[in-house]
Amino acid sequence: MAPQAASPEAPAAQPIPRLAIPELDKCIQCGFCLQHCPTYRILSVETESPRGRIHLIEAAAQGRIPIDARFEEHMYVCLGCRACETACPSGVKFGTIIEAARAEIGPTGSPLARRLTLLALRHLMPFPGRLRLAAALLRFYQRSGLRSAAHALHLVPRRLAEMETLLPRIPDHFFAPAQEVFPAMGPQRARVGLLSGCVMSVMFADLNEATIRVLQRNGCEVVVPRAQTCCGALNLHSGERDQARAMARRNIDTFLAAGVDAIVINAAGCGSASKEYEVLFRDDPSYSARAAQFSHLCRDVSEFLAELGLVGGLGEVRARVTYQDPCHLAHGQGIRRQPRELLRRIPGVDLVEMSGSDRCCGSAGIYNLTQPEYSRVILDEKVAAIQATGADVVVAPNPGCMLQIAGGVRARGMRVHVHHLIDLIDRAYRAADTA
Ligand code: SF4
Ligand code: SF4
Repeated sequence: MAPQAASPEAPAAQPIPRLAIPELDKCIQCGFCLQHCPTYRILSVETESPRGRIHLIEAAAQGRIPIDARFEEHMYVCLGCRACETACPSGVKFGTIIEAARAEIGPTGSPLARRLTLLALRHLMPFPGRLRLAAALLRFYQRSGLRSAAHALHLVPRRLAEMETLLPRIPDHFFAPAQEVFPAMGPQRARVGLLSGCVMSVMFADLNEATIRVLQRNGCEVVVPRAQTCCGALNLHSGERDQARAMARRNIDTFLAAGVDAIVINAAGCGSASKEYEVLFRDDPSYSARAAQFSHLCRDVSEFLAELGLVGGLGEVRARVTYQDPCHLAHGQGIRRQPRELLRRIPGVDLVEMSGSDRCCGSAGIYNLTQPEYSRVILDEKVAAIQATGADVVVAPNPGCMLQIAGGVRARGMRVHVHHLIDLIDRAYRAADTA
């Protein structure tokens, strides 16, 4: 299978002036990362491996090769899954390298896809109100018959129609709570901020609500600051670094002003990006200390609850469960043990491991939109691993993974439900209430 043709609008040849060259120097070219890299496993070519991409970036940084359409293609076939980071004996932070390379290119795809991506990244993601409005319009389009009519009249361009089939059904309600502070139940053990997320708030409002309930049950006063914005992860992965920094500054100011003991995050990708604000601002003396302070407060919800220790009785949730490690939790944050420990605490849960649970599912931000062919191959492998466990529930604590895996099992007619860890914990508490 050949990599997709890159856009003719790719920038003209020029050396990369701002790359993190010290990270590149760390690579000792041992190749331990190759078999851990999904794109290398699919394509079996060095240029689609971490080591190959490092070579290309090094060559571009030294002006030996141009940053042209081919270079762009190699940078964007990468999922950004960071499986190479955990495999690397030399500690190469490939995520930082690929983000820096993409920052020199900007978003990928056809001219139409680039325009749509930039529109979303610059004019929707930083503005939660606009994002909700856009989602409400999309919901109307999906449900009013407008979509069927547009397709029947051939008004939707082919590429856009393909992308549209990957879009999930927009839910009935969004997360926009009337209050900013939710009191702790019982004696207060902590005051925490909730990073409510952009995709989480639009696609998984129920999950944000469940996260608040579980935190309250565990003695946390929960602050959901209205002034917060999207964490900027999608912007970073798509080469929009300056916009990501602007969004990060806003979150840093907002959460530090809230005076919380921890910032709790229920989306692996957002958690990883937030914990790395420290890196994002390391060359900015006006923000580096505040960014570090913010990053040190950030906790994935499973990490936070495991540290705090669950309190209160958990009722039974009878299910055969398999756990999918989101890349940005396992590889990005090194969190694998805590979600499994919490799952084992729920009476009735039978946890069965799938093979390759920490392999990417092919969602990877907007990869399933920009590289649908590879994304499908990777998803097929994941769905087969799930099927082999005989599980009826997959726990995948990241919105992109949940949507991708749900689409994969649905397409194959499997009777498997996809949930976040918090869904099951919340359900267990409610089961205890009604027992
Ligand atoms: S494992 Fe690390 S050091 Fe070895 S080739 Fe891959 S990136 Fe380079
Ligand atoms: S981030 Fe993932 S896809 Fe990209 S080079 Fe590393 S292992 Fe391969």
